[in-house]
Amino acid sequence: MTAQPVGFVGLGAIGWPMAARLAGRGPVVVWNRTRERADSFVARHGGRAAGTPRELAAACSIVLTCLPNSREVEEVLSGPQGLEEGWAPGGLLLDCTSGEPHRSRVIAERLARREVSFADAPVSGGTNGAEAGTLVVMVGGTEDVVSRATPVLQAFAARIVHTGPVGTGHAVKAVNNALLGTHIMTLAEGLTGLVKAGVAPDRAVEAINLSSGRSFVSEVLVPDRVLTGTWPRTFRLALLAKDVGIACRVLQEAGVDAPVLEAVHGALGAVIDALGDAGADYLEAIRVAEERAGVAIRTPGGAAS
Ligand code: NDP
Repeated sequence: MTAQPVGFVGLGAIGWPMAARLAGRGPVVVWNRTRERADSFVARHGGRAAGTPRELAAACSIVLTCLPNSREVEEVLSGPQGLEEGWAPGGLLLDCTSGEPHRSRVIAERLARREVSFADAPVSGGTNGAEAGTLVVMVGGTEDVVSRATPVLQAFAARIVHTGPVGTGHAVKAVNNALLGTHIMTLAEGLTGLVKAGVAPDRAVEAINLSSGRSFVSEVLVPDRVLTGTWPRTFRLALLAKDVGIACRVLQEAGVDAPVLEAVHGALGAVIDALGDAGADYLEAIRVAEERAGVAIRTPGGAAS
């Protein structure tokens, strides 16, 4: 008997390598708003492209979505050609979008009326982690749903953390990325200041990484990309700002003041306005800080910026 295909919606920067890992394990059906991208995916990784989300859900009881935000997930669910119209009872939506907890709870209730299950399952680990199958997934849902989802998520994940009921995966992911955004913005300020004060950037980074101020940004992103002057596009700055905004709303709803995260959210918005490029990568925030300070955080003698 052939295994039932898994459906995947949203072949973006991270969705593509996640879907490719699934295609390496068994049959997949994909749908992407821009059809050419779905056709390219099938030509490269196999499977087939559905004409509509509805057709995809009719072929696959388990569907994963990886879209910019929960609003786009609602869009692919709704309407005559939406996922909802295609599913038979017993379907399961795993939303790998970094989305909004309150919208996910509404989606879960709406799908439950059709006997379709839901879990929010946002990921961390970047496009490299998706390619390597080493992502972390934060899953909000019932124990039963997490058990059913685990073998599917293991196609691209090294760790799966059950964070609690629906919405908690998205809440934890948002706070994680709020910390990421904070580290980026504070390192951008700190390192440009140190370089301007005459400290060699590689020495500053070395000392910080041996000390208590280190983070994923200082240990991995700055050495790999900033010190070398390599600026690949892997994660849009606008998506990071969206995540920090979600974190601020999560904290507000919990009745917790978050002046620092609000400030980071505002600072990221100002960088996006300055760049005027919806596709700008998240580490462009450091490049903008360099330009403002008139210095470059590069290893002396390393690659040109
Ligand atoms: P991209 O911007 O690269 O891709 C977005 C995808 O969503 C594309 O397939 C796009 O289709 C599709 N899309 C956009 N709007 C709509 C819509 N209205 N209806 C249907 N489809 C739509 O994003 P990423 O792949 O980088 O990110 C996806 C999610 O994963 C986001 O929530 C992000 O925060 C999260 N994430 C991203 C990481 C990364 O490293 N990139 C890391 C961890 C999480 P089209 O091809 O037509 O534009």
